[in-house]
Amino acid sequence: MGEATERYAVVTGANKGIGLEIVRQLASAGIKVVLTARNEERGLQALQTLQASGLSHLVLFHQLDVADATSAASLAHFIKSKFGKLDILAISEDDGRKGITQTYELAKECLQINYYGAKITIESLMPLLQLSDSPRIVNVSSFMGQLESFTKGSWARGVFSDVDNLSEEKVDEILKEFLRDFQEGSFESKGWPRYPSAYIVSKAAMNAYTRILAKKYPSFCINSVCPGYVKTQLTANTGFLTAEEGAASPVRLALLPNGSPSGLFYSQSDVASF
Ligand code: NAP
Repeated sequence: MGEATERYAVVTGANKGIGLEIVRQLASAGIKVVLTARNEERGLQALQTLQASGLSHLVLFHQLDVADATSAASLAHFIKSKFGKLDILAISEDDGRKGITQTYELAKECLQINYYGAKITIESLMPLLQLSDSPRIVNVSSFMGQLESFTKGSWARGVFSDVDNLSEEKVDEILKEFLRDFQEGSFESKGWPRYPSAYIVSKAAMNAYTRILAKKYPSFCINSVCPGYVKTQLTANTGFLTAEEGAASPVRLALLPNGSPSGLFYSQSDVASF
């Protein structure tokens, strides 16, 4: 079992890109971090790259496919037996191709990973976060998920905007309706975002879930953040920022002091101006 004063973090989708850099920066801040990846081999390779930075004593690996509830439960069991609590959870996975390829099957998988996967992971680790005296959840989201991406007056924009009445059930309802319209080919006429539709809808759902969770757990700091346009596999390395720069804002939110704002969406520049 870990020490009471030590802080522990889990990062999802951490074998490369922004996730891997979040791990590196949290470990550099002295936090013990569990680097997770859906593929064990890729996860262990990523762990090796951190050994070269002299951080191996602060980073462990555990497999996690966010879309698989069994692997999330196994991760929770691992954290419980190893540390007894969790302080920081950073959600950073994305299966890029699924969000940007406009087919029904891939749209469904995109929502499964980006939204439902994040939710499964958060729910599995919530009992351990509740044992922390400074619990933080950072959802790596995108500016594309902001409501301006939805046609003004559209049903989904209205439901997402009604923040006082938002609920997990309403988010579910929106996602089901999106998939139904997508399958029927009527998503453009119904005011859903055009491209990349599933990616945008998944990130809007994540931002809404961030608000819902923050309300439900007032002692937590739970926020979502757009990391900026970052050179990773997701952007075919076309971004303006390095992965290190992209990780800086999620890490900053993960290290906010108690009493900081919760339930918000931040852009990278918002966080840089703190
Ligand atoms: P990336 O380099 O493509 O990394 C994505 C990571 O997610 C990979 O490690 C991938 O693992 C993992 N992943 C995919 N499906 C998974 C699953 N089912 N379970 C667990 N892990 C899974 O992308 P990135 O740019 O670092 O993206 C990180 C986050 O930033 C994402 O949420 C993305 O939407 C967000 N974001 C990025 C940008 C940008 O400009 N890059 C902008 C806005 C938001 P594999 O290696 O096994 O595929």
